[in-house]
Amino acid sequence: MRNICVVGTGYVGLVTGACLSELGHNVICMDSDKKKVALLKKGVMPIYEPGLENLVKKNVKQKRLSFVSSLGPVVEKTEVIFIAVGTPPLEDGSADLSFVEAVAREIAKNMRSYKLIVDKSTVPVETGEWVERTMRSNLKKNIPFDVASNPEFLREGSAVYDTFNPDRIVIGVKSKRAENILREIYSPIKATVLITDIKSAELIKHASNSFLAMKISYINAISNICEITGANISKVALGMGLDKRIGRNFLDAGIGFGGFCFPKDLEAFIWISKKLGYDFNLLKEVIKINSGQRAMLVKKITDVLWVLKGKTIAVLGLAFKPNTDDMRFAPSVEIINMLQEQGAKIRAYDPEAVSKAKKILKNVYFSKDPYETSKGADCAVVLTEWDEFKNLDLKRMKRMLKHPVIVDGRNIFDPQEMAKLGFTYKSIGR
Ligand code: NAD
Repeated sequence: MRNICVVGTGYVGLVTGACLSELGHNVICMDSDKKKVALLKKGVMPIYEPGLENLVKKNVKQKRLSFVSSLGPVVEKTEVIFIAVGTPPLEDGSADLSFVEAVAREIAKNMRSYKLIVDKSTVPVETGEWVERTMRSNLKKNIPFDVASNPEFLREGSAVYDTFNPDRIVIGVKSKRAENILREIYSPIKATVLITDIKSAELIKHASNSFLAMKISYINAISNICEITGANISKVALGMGLDKRIGRNFLDAGIGFGGFCFPKDLEAFIWISKKLGYDFNLLKEVIKINSGQRAMLVKKITDVLWVLKGKTIAVLGLAFKPNTDDMRFAPSVEIINMLQEQGAKIRAYDPEAVSKAKKILKNVYFSKDPYETSKGADCAVVLTEWDEFKNLDLKRMKRMLKHPVIVDGRNIFDPQEMAKLGFTYKSIGR
């Protein structure tokens, strides 16, 4: 059992803190956002993540998990400090590391004994070195410490499950002491532990996310060839995925990736590569193909509806993927903006993301279910593949819509079934 502080209680920090406490460690979760901490103290989750609320409540009750809004006083109560703050993109695409730096400074100023500082935020290669330098220049005297990189691979929507069942745990360290502490912290989890140097661990995260994003753009590029030739992307993806070297995951054609990870991590990886002297053109193309998918969906809508001015479009799904309320860099935002620019009126529904969407989207009528959303609309557009949409009563949908038109950006329906039901149905690459 270790005394741990997790700094930043967002999608990563809160899940990490709750899961580490469930493993038996004493965890203090710290966040500079006082409102968030006040909510958490009352047992209210600031994010939607399956299984999280129960885990938090259980461990708070058993006194292994607590929440604070100031770091200084808790530094000396803990030995291991995980940094899980945001690393959002700056204008030039580089990662904003000011939150990571601020935390390193604060730890150095308040520590009196050995600390292991573990970076869990997604950061460019060489950040560990900067954290170490920042620590040294802010330490009042020569107190020993270690810096480690422990990148996070959880997926929003299954974050708790992923934390307990990871494909691998990557630990980048410089000392045996740091390695042993982290091995011990994670010892109850049955997973391959990969020990590397700090730079390799940092690169594993950027390289993995970029690779997955590339796979999505690759299948989207193939879906465009399918549309031109009349081939079927679902069959092509199946045929490719049956090859064990390729695998079926991340071969779903659609409106492209979004969220707080892939878009910003790609930009940050391109930026750091350029800074280091390598022009990562491959990844620039991945981003270009991804943006093209949004525009392509809007074109499909105009191909069916012609003039968009004054037409009503029912948007089904706003979150960047199912089982999350996260709206950051969601494709829905770009697509809705493009539709509104052409004068379309938007009605929208999402099972979880509406309250976050309301803060981002303007002039959108939010409804309580997919049927009410579709009432009187000229067309329905699927932007997130929630199970709720896969199980829609399509006959009822047809009755609600002004015209039986569905443009499916996530390929959740069978084109033949839709034709049989009398829908004008457009999907991606088939
Ligand atoms: P988030 O925005 O949900 O949470 C970050 C939290 O850090 C916020 O609550 C913010 O208030 C807090 N914070 C900022 N500065 C602080 C400071 N100085 N002291 C204390 N708290 C501070 O972000 P997230 O989605 O949890 O992502 C965190 C990091 O993990 C990012 O680098 C991200 O790229 C990475 N990551 C995210 C995911 C994901 O699916 N969201 C997955 C893997 C890795």
